[in-house]
Amino acid sequence: MFDSLSDRLGDVFGRLRKRGALSEKDVDEALREVRIALLEADVALSVVKDFVAEVKKQAVGQEVVRSVSPAQMVVKIVNDHLIEVLGRETEELSLNAAPPVPILIVGLQGSGKTTSTAKIAYRLKNREKKKVLMASLDVRRPAAQEQLRVLGEQAEVPTLPVVPGQMPVDIAKRALQSARLQGYDVVLLDTAGRLHVDEQLMQEVAAVRDAVNPHETLLVADALTGQDAVNVAKQFDERVGVTGIMLTRVDGDGRGGAALSMRAVTGRPIKLIGVGEKMDALETFHPDRIANRILGMGDVVGLVEKAQESIQEEDAKKLAARMKKGEFDLEDLRGQLQQMQKMGGLEGLAGMLPGARQVKQQLADANIDPKMLRRQEAIIGSMTPKERRNPKLINASRKKRIAAGSGTTVPDVNRVLKQWKQMSVMMKKVRKLGKSGMMRAGLQ
Ligand code: GDP
Repeated sequence: MFDSLSDRLGDVFGRLRKRGALSEKDVDEALREVRIALLEADVALSVVKDFVAEVKKQAVGQEVVRSVSPAQMVVKIVNDHLIEVLGRETEELSLNAAPPVPILIVGLQGSGKTTSTAKIAYRLKNREKKKVLMASLDVRRPAAQEQLRVLGEQAEVPTLPVVPGQMPVDIAKRALQSARLQGYDVVLLDTAGRLHVDEQLMQEVAAVRDAVNPHETLLVADALTGQDAVNVAKQFDERVGVTGIMLTRVDGDGRGGAALSMRAVTGRPIKLIGVGEKMDALETFHPDRIANRILGMGDVVGLVEKAQESIQEEDAKKLAARMKKGEFDLEDLRGQLQQMQKMGGLEGLAGMLPGARQVKQQLADANIDPKMLRRQEAIIGSMTPKERRNPKLINASRKKRIAAGSGTTVPDVNRVLKQWKQMSVMMKKVRKLGKSGMMRAGLQ
């Protein structure tokens, strides 16, 4: 079971006591276990392959933060990438259109489509205070329209009265017409389902779509059916276009792997999840929670995040101590460049330093963009540790080597050296300002 992923990774890295950057071998061994964990979580093989390849690219060469193990570091990188692939931001159902907003609910029979339609109506009514009308377009299954009516009663949301013999497109048009006349905000159209995707069904749904021009077309899919659900989603998307996905039965045994495949294969956002049979068993989809469900390693992720934070604090303190002594070498500059990329540019840093108004203006005038920060970081990365500690060593031939190593030019290298010089002059000024100045800047 996936609970043992942490243990298995622990074994893999138990023998590796070395600190520093993650090597390709470390990463490969960890990712073998991660691959198994993802497959056990029911993520499609093709998705797992791409996912693992991408994580490998990101992980090899990454520094392992002090006080965590390489395995934990890999788990954190895997977790971050999972969230990335799952969509990072939560996306809600969009109602941003002139009322009545038509929302088409599509999916296979048994996926939980009708239940989900009622749950969404219930939520929109109670949470968003919307006036919602539901209509069942399923004329094939006699009980379908009745089912929606019963659910509507439970949710206290009205359903469009049934006119026997009316066809789906006409029901949809009638629903919109009534909604317009009666001042509804949203119309939920529950389309017919089948056990399998077939041409007739797709034609029917496409005809309804053309008739009502839905603001959202939400595909309902059963998370427990894993790969099948993904194929269904793909077919629906290709044929009728899907704007969002609702995954049902996320309360079941499945570990959320379907969510990852679904998003990766269709590229459509998962907006909602169903977590039970009751009317209120509906949740907004949160990529970070599902990532934790898939990997089952929220504690490790939290640990690494904490370590990263405290290391940053430590580094800041160390730098402050060095600044007090008026020391500032290219290693420090590199640390600052990395920090700056996180903090939003050079101005952020300059603002932290006392008596640096002049330099700050220079930096602002230089109009430095993030790409340049990365290039500068690469230049320093191509220097030897000795050069970084003692930049005076860097003569013309070394400059050429550094430029070639970082894919830049000698003038680029010169610019970095000039910047370092400016900053070390600034550090000396800071030192002269003395302790009170440092305290004001919060660098004690
Ligand atoms: P439809 O044929 O797609 O309209 O499916 P239904 O809405 O009739 O749902 C089929 C069954 O799945 C019903 O018994 C629902 O109560 C159940 N169901 C729907 N969504 C969920 C869910 O998120 N979790 C669980 N556990 N059951 C669900």
